[in-house]
Amino acid sequence: MPERQPRRTPLTITVDLLAVAIVAAGLGILAYRLWHAVDSPALAIGALAMLSAGYVMADLLTGFVHWFCDTFFDETTPLIGPALIAPFREHHRDPLLMTQHGFLELTGSSFRGLAPLLMLIVWMGQPLPVHVNAFVFALATGAVCTNLLHRWAHEPAPPAFARVLQSTGLVLTPVRHARHHAPPYAAGYCVTSGWLNPICERLQIWSRAEAVFTALGLPVSRADRE
Ligand SMILES: [Zn+2]
Ligand SMILES: [Zn+2]
Repeated sequence: MPERQPRRTPLTITVDLLAVAIVAAGLGILAYRLWHAVDSPALAIGALAMLSAGYVMADLLTGFVHWFCDTFFDETTPLIGPALIAPFREHHRDPLLMTQHGFLELTGSSFRGLAPLLMLIVWMGQPLPVHVNAFVFALATGAVCTNLLHRWAHEPAPPAFARVLQSTGLVLTPVRHARHHAPPYAAGYCVTSGWLNPICERLQIWSRAEAVFTALGLPVSRADRE
């Protein structure tokens, strides 16, 4: 069994803090621009629809990353192994371990992944069209929160705020996530809201994608079957 991922170093922590600051600033700018651009009921309805679409897309996008890391390569793969794949595999060996991780260890990879996109958007200078702005804001917010929402679904006693959110059905719930950790270990990869899991399963999205990626030569080594 591969060793647990290396302990976090001062450099890792510094990079994570920088990524959190960049993402927080980027989301703040997007929220500010959105707030000032929505000046009619029609735009408000459109922005709300795109916020919802962005949040759903976050479920799909993070579900894809999760499925990929649970299915292909392993913890020793150069570049992506220790930093990206290892936390997913570790989570399957010990699902409760993530509940003991600090905020940066839990969410650092999400912030690092989103920081370049948000930096690019802010650097472009010109505000995005309202609907695109709303979509990107919700997508990025959902994506950076996904590991936290996943963690709450595993917490024996999540914070009161998390329980309220779970009771609304807006975020992943323990019941919705349970299927991911049960045989045949091939479903429930979406861990932001988990809304798309039944659709992905019905359409056999992951098994079909696995057939395509395997045909392209990617080595399969599934979590929970190592
Ligand atoms: Zn998994
Ligand atoms: Zn889990």
